[in-house]
Amino acid sequence: MNRRSFLYLTSASLMLDVARRRWASPAMARRLAAYPFQLGVASGDPAPDGFVLWTRLAVDTTRGDGGIPPTPISVRWELATDASMRRIVTSGIATATPELGHSVHVEVAGLAPQREYFYRFMTNDATSAVGRSRTAPAPGAKIDRLRFAVASCQNYEHGFYHAHRDIAQTDMDAVLFLGDYIYEYRSKDRPRVHTLPALQSLDDYRTCYAQYHADPDLQAAHAAHPWIVTFDDHEVEDNWAGAIDRDGSSPAAFLPRRAAAFQAFYENMPLRHTSVPTGPDMQSFRTVAYGQLAQFTVIDTRQYRSDQPCGDNFKPSCDARLLESATMLGATQETWLANALATSTAQWNIVANQVMVQQLRQQRNGRETVNMDQWDGYPAARTRLTDFLAARRPNNPVFVTGDTHQTWVGDVKVNFDDQKSRTVATELVGTSITSGGDGSMKNRFSDANLADNPHIVYNNDQRGYFLCDLTPRAMTSALRVADRVTTRDGQITTAAQFITETGRPGVHLAG
Ligand code: FE
Ligand code: CA
Repeated sequence: MNRRSFLYLTSASLMLDVARRRWASPAMARRLAAYPFQLGVASGDPAPDGFVLWTRLAVDTTRGDGGIPPTPISVRWELATDASMRRIVTSGIATATPELGHSVHVEVAGLAPQREYFYRFMTNDATSAVGRSRTAPAPGAKIDRLRFAVASCQNYEHGFYHAHRDIAQTDMDAVLFLGDYIYEYRSKDRPRVHTLPALQSLDDYRTCYAQYHADPDLQAAHAAHPWIVTFDDHEVEDNWAGAIDRDGSSPAAFLPRRAAAFQAFYENMPLRHTSVPTGPDMQSFRTVAYGQLAQFTVIDTRQYRSDQPCGDNFKPSCDARLLESATMLGATQETWLANALATSTAQWNIVANQVMVQQLRQQRNGRETVNMDQWDGYPAARTRLTDFLAARRPNNPVFVTGDTHQTWVGDVKVNFDDQKSRTVATELVGTSITSGGDGSMKNRFSDANLADNPHIVYNNDQRGYFLCDLTPRAMTSALRVADRVTTRDGQITTAAQFITETGRPGVHLAG
């Protein structure tokens, strides 16, 4: 089976059916009530010599414990160079424990760089679907191209994952997922319904991830490519900031919930051991390098930030917003980010970011407002970052961003109030996979609002994702959008393409 037919198989969710049919043994049936790989398989955080392999056992996708008895279960894993799993290069036994939700995280090492591999899991007589992954190139290797998807915000209730089906069918090196993998509340009048109305305990969060992972299109996208993931707010609660929840409860009241949410996030993502949470703390900022061509610098704009000033969401400015002490990254991460960018020799520095960097002024009820949850709420921190980019000039910085449920493509300026000031980076704010439901042009920014934000090149309110192609000369980003997500028959097409040329910060529409 070649890669093309593998991607086709994953996309048709035939894999799971094939895997299920293979499983029919009376001995196994006594141990577990049903097929235990119903949450699919995934890989993540590619390195030149390996990546993480992930699965989580469940026989019942409506339960937090997956319907698995509360005992350790041995899971065999196999890695091969062919999709038929005949040329096995390494294998091992992992233990899925109830303490970690019967998840399995295997950090495979010792593999060849820039190579495709296939993997699967087995427990007793059950065999998982086969996943495909790919190692990164050797450190400093000169490579001609790199292709990755930028995705975020996949509220299960708001629609179907047509974008993930498209990602699964498209050949690429990696998927960046920038947060809002789950949503912690229940909406009204949507095409799908969350198992639980709200999430508080570890069992609640586990239940939610089980429902999301049971989706065949999401499973196909995980099985087809390695993912590099980070969280934003809805993995815990809307608009949380540091140790403060949306309603401003005490840290003592909020931190146990954050700990439960982080643990469930770790259990359900292909993350390395370095991200195993310690109570309410989880290490998520990190770099992933692709030879000489690109460095992905993944940042965490939630866990260490000061509280949103002036109230959440779009608000008029107030004194608290202008505090020099306001922070988006926290002091430790801010120093780490500066160092990661200053020492990078990659031709492209892709910053995997959660909330919009660009200024977005909006007139509401006759007053100018900005979104206090975005970098706009932390202008002193943003200026420190853009001044750093202007002074140290790392190669070709590009922010890729989630959160807003709209596409915003534009130039990152040292001074957004002066369009003539220097452009120091490009920003691509990806829309959402489903969150917000079908796009509507009436939600798009008005021409008057766009005129207040001249650094913005493009705005679109449809659902979808970015497919980015990097070469040593340029970054070409296709905005892939769904005509609708609220029905099962949505179609994906390219709405627009954008180009950033090497050595010339900023972005323009192609064609
Ligand atoms: Fe979102
Ligand atoms: Ca968000």
